[in-house]
Amino acid sequence: MIPRLKPNLGVKELISAIQFYKKNSINKFEEKFSELSKQKHSVTFSHGRTGLIYLLQALALKDKEVICPAYTCVVVPHAITYSGNKPVFLDSSSDGFNMDLDKIESLINQKTGAIIATSIFGYPINLEKIRSLKNKYPNIKIIQDCAHSYFAEWNKTPVQTVGDAAFYGMNISKIITSIFGGMVTTDDPGLYNKIIKLKQDSLVENKFKIIKRLLYLIAMYPVFNPPIYSLINYLERKKLLDKFVKYYDESSINMPSDYLEAFSELEARVGIVNLDRYKEQIKLRREAAEYYFSHLSGFEDFILPPKVEGATYSHYVVLVKNRQKWLNLALNKGIQLGELIEYNIPEMKSYGSHSSNQFPNSAHYSRHCINLPVWGGERIAEKVVKNLRENFQS
Ligand SMILES: *Cc1c(COP(=O)(O)O)cnc(C)c1O
Repeated sequence: MIPRLKPNLGVKELISAIQFYKKNSINKFEEKFSELSKQKHSVTFSHGRTGLIYLLQALALKDKEVICPAYTCVVVPHAITYSGNKPVFLDSSSDGFNMDLDKIESLINQKTGAIIATSIFGYPINLEKIRSLKNKYPNIKIIQDCAHSYFAEWNKTPVQTVGDAAFYGMNISKIITSIFGGMVTTDDPGLYNKIIKLKQDSLVENKFKIIKRLLYLIAMYPVFNPPIYSLINYLERKKLLDKFVKYYDESSINMPSDYLEAFSELEARVGIVNLDRYKEQIKLRREAAEYYFSHLSGFEDFILPPKVEGATYSHYVVLVKNRQKWLNLALNKGIQLGELIEYNIPEMKSYGSHSSNQFPNSAHYSRHCINLPVWGGERIAEKVVKNLRENFQS
C-alpha cells in the first residue's frame, strides 16, 4: 500500500533522539532554523498553534479581529480564539487555494489587528499584495503561516521574510519534523524578546514528555511499512482510531492538553538532523508535482492545481467531482489518497455554522479535493499515475 504521507524520518533521527548526553539542543535547533529561514530569531514551542498564540500575545493583540483563511487548518482560528482575539474568515480565490487578497479590504476595520498570510499547500502567498496592504495599513500585523510552505518563494523572495513574524508546525506530517513542535521566526528583536519573556513566564515542564515523545518516535518507524499501515488504514476507515488520529472536533474550540508544555531537548535533537533533509524533501515534492502535471492531463475528471514557481507542493491537490469514488478506486489499487483540507471552517458549528455559499470557493475545495502522494518523488508518483490510469480506463 502506498500511504498518503510518509514522515520524513530516518535512522539519524532515531540515533540523535537517544543522545541524551548532548546539551543545549534547543538553542542549536533554533540557530540552525534561523540560518535556513534567513531570519534573525527562531523560538520553539510544543506545537505550531502554541507559537501563534504567543505571537499574538507578544504583539499585544487582545479583543482584536484577526483575518485568516476560511480554507486552512482549523487549529489556526482555535489559536486566534485562545489568544483572546476573534478570527474573521476570508474565502479562497477561485483560481488557487490561497485566500483571496483582492477581497480582503472589505474585512478590514478599526478592530483588525493582524492578518494570517497563509501559503496553503505550499503555494506562496502573493507578497506584492501583502506589502501593499502593509503600506496602506501599517498598524495591522502580518503573520506568515508557513506550516505548509517552509521557505516557499514568491518571485524569489521567501514568504517568511515579509511581515512581522512567521510560524511553522513540525509534527510528522510536515516537511520538517521534530516529532511534534512548532517554531516562530522573526527579524524583530523587540518582538523576539517579548516572546521569550512570555515563554519564560508561562510554559510548563513535563518530565514525562521525553519518554512519551521517544515512544511516539519509535512507533512511527514500523507504522508506515506496508502490512502494518494497511491494518491501520483499515481500522481508520472503520473509525476505530478517531480517538488517536482525529485532530479536530466540529463543535468545539480546543487545544491539546500539552499545548503549554515546553518543547523538549529530545525533539530538538530530532529537529536538528531533520533540517538537513530539507533540500531533499523539497526536491522530492517538486519532482512528484512535475510528474503529476505532465502525466495527469488526460484525466478528464481531474482539475489540476496551479503550477507555481517557488511552491513547496507540501500537498498535490486535485479537484474531482466525486471524491469518495476516487478514494475508493485508489484504495482498491493499494493507494491511499488524502482529502486535505476536507472542511470549510466557517461552516463548523463552533465558527457560526455559516452557509457554504458565503465562502463558495473554500466550500467547493473542501468537498472536491484529493491529495496525491508527494513524499516519494517521481518514483512513487509514477506508480500512482499508472494505477489510477487503470482505474480511469475501466
Ligand atoms: C499543521 C498546521 C498548523 C499548526 O501546526 P501544529 O503544530 O499542529 O499546531 C498551522 N497551519 C497549518 C496550515 C497547518 O497545516
